[in-house]
Amino acid sequence: VYQAPLKDIRFVLEHVLGARQLASQSRFAEYSDDLGESILSAAGTFAGEVLDPINSLGDRQGARLTATGVTVPAEFRDAYRRFVADGWPLLGVPAELGGQGVPLTLATAVEEIWCGANMAFMLCPMLGHGAIEALQLVGSPALRAEFLPRLVSGEWTGTMNLTEPQAGSDLALIRMRAVPDGARHRLYGQKIFITYGDHDLADNIVHLVLARIDGAPAGLRGISLFVVPKRRHEAGGWVDNDVRCVSLEHKLGIHASPTCVMAYGERDGAVGYLVGEAHHGVEYMFIMMNRARLTVGVQGVAMGERALQQATRWGRERRQGRAPDSSEEPTAIHHHPDVRRMLLTLKSEVEAMRALALYAALQSDLAHGDNADARAAAGAGGSALQRAELLIPIVKGFCTERANELASLAVQVHGGMGFIEETGVAQTLRDARISAIYEGTTGIQANDLLGRKLSRDQGAAMYALLDEAERELSAIGARADDGAAAVALAALAHSRAATTALLVQLRDAPAQAYAVAVPYLMLCGVALGGWLSVRASRLAAELLARGGGDADFLRAKQQTVAFHAAQRLPEAAALRVVVEQGGAAVIAADPALL
Ligand SMILES: Cc1cc2nc3c(=O)[nH]c(=O)nc-3n(C[C@H](O)[C@H](O)[C@H](O)COP(=O)(O)OP(=O)(O)OC[C@H]3O[C@@H](n4cnc5c(N)ncnc54)[C@H](O)[C@@H]3O)c2cc1C
Repeated sequence: VYQAPLKDIRFVLEHVLGARQLASQSRFAEYSDDLGESILSAAGTFAGEVLDPINSLGDRQGARLTATGVTVPAEFRDAYRRFVADGWPLLGVPAELGGQGVPLTLATAVEEIWCGANMAFMLCPMLGHGAIEALQLVGSPALRAEFLPRLVSGEWTGTMNLTEPQAGSDLALIRMRAVPDGARHRLYGQKIFITYGDHDLADNIVHLVLARIDGAPAGLRGISLFVVPKRRHEAGGWVDNDVRCVSLEHKLGIHASPTCVMAYGERDGAVGYLVGEAHHGVEYMFIMMNRARLTVGVQGVAMGERALQQATRWGRERRQGRAPDSSEEPTAIHHHPDVRRMLLTLKSEVEAMRALALYAALQSDLAHGDNADARAAAGAGGSALQRAELLIPIVKGFCTERANELASLAVQVHGGMGFIEETGVAQTLRDARISAIYEGTTGIQANDLLGRKLSRDQGAAMYALLDEAERELSAIGARADDGAAAVALAALAHSRAATTALLVQLRDAPAQAYAVAVPYLMLCGVALGGWLSVRASRLAAELLARGGGDADFLRAKQQTVAFHAAQRLPEAAALRVVVEQGGAAVIAADPALL
């Protein structure tokens, strides 16, 4: 049974990040810790009562393609109805669009809760956000009026249609055709892997589709963005558009989330409306991708948390053997040093990932605040926008890769029963796997980190972040005898050295640099997660000393971070060596001999 990790989320928001600072922005004037708490606990209740109970059922039943389209389990339809009736789709939507306009930081924390309870369900509302953002950003007033209100309320849902059989990571290969037809276009072609491309949760589905207008230049510059509704309104009433799901993929996890092959224009062409200017589709997608990538990073946190809860429960209940420091026989397995190590690994990594993901969300909120311009001018590389953009690929890549490791570790804690479906941890492992693949694979995130985020300012944003983190940890180390601070400081130093080495490689031997891009991304995740963990542990110590807060929670935080420093952060040293030296061995290898 999933329980929303409200204590840790609130600790991160209220203490580690001081999210209440957002109330100084006019658009978030109403934000307070209390408001955050009430929304988080309501989300936790919804997750526990509605979403988690249908998670395993969704896995077993999955989505089905019928003669009239795709159906999801009836329980998912009920849950979605309640989700909409309770107004949850409005949460992160700006107030000017009729939403609740809460900060992204809070909306992201809530997304973690929903996703932890039921990842397959959450994907549907998540995709709606992308469609809303695109229309808000570049949609014409007419398109906004027609589609936004019902997307915002959740009455209609949205999809993202990028992938084609020959165009996955490489969007330049997109072939879907768009033919001008008066003020609109007709679209022809196939998209694959479209999440919630068809379903019976809502009356209409608003597809955002990347396509190439006839005569457009080849490559990324020739791709445009279209809105293609499943049903469209004509003078005579509602008609079905020429788009349908022709098959569903059979896949490893997230079974209740339909992954559709979509056919556009099998008859007279699917009517589509151009969003923004022609040929700028990929640019618009990239703007939306920041939020989507953050959300998928948070899916990693959520799956890690689910794995942690499953493993912790099993560790308490399963009895085997005798542990060196326990007189019980058979003992609860969490007394065994190795099981304790695995549980601490899960807990410390999840908490570090959560702090890092929410820190990135906070930077994004700060970047779009009232005084964002002043911040941008504040110093080279130090603006919140640069920082948010730098962090997105790290959060996405690091948290989802870790989620896979952690879910596997949670299976290990279960022993043989972990491999058996009835414990539910196998589903977590299967569901988590996709997070490191869609919305740009880890390799693509790492390319983004090097090729765009580091290269564009020669590391200025990264160095500014490392400077700040190092200053903070040095101050902590000077104030208190904190062994974890010293280890975390060393991890930051490894990150700095690797950054410098990588910038040189990028100039002199770019192929070598890209060969270690993923290890570099992971190093950044380790070091930055370590920094925020030590901050959390210090705050816990201070609160405990003042006699405030939940003493067990605060002590747990300290012991978790002590473990993190002792067993997890040392990985930074090895990753630094890999980044500094490892690329040459990759490039020297002949692919023909692999
Ligand atoms: C369940 C599921 C749901 C999905 N939902 C959607 C959706 O809603 N909408 C949508 O448009 N798409 C969706 N996708 C597609 C998904 O985004 C792509 O699968 C993903 O981007 C990878 O593309 P690909 O599968 O073609 O892999 P490829 O691009 O063929 O990649 C294969 C391998 O090569 C590596 N690689 C490729 N290019 C590079 C490079 N330049 N540098 C380094 N390494 C590289 C990759 O990292 C990967 O390891 C979904 C996919 C799945 C499985």
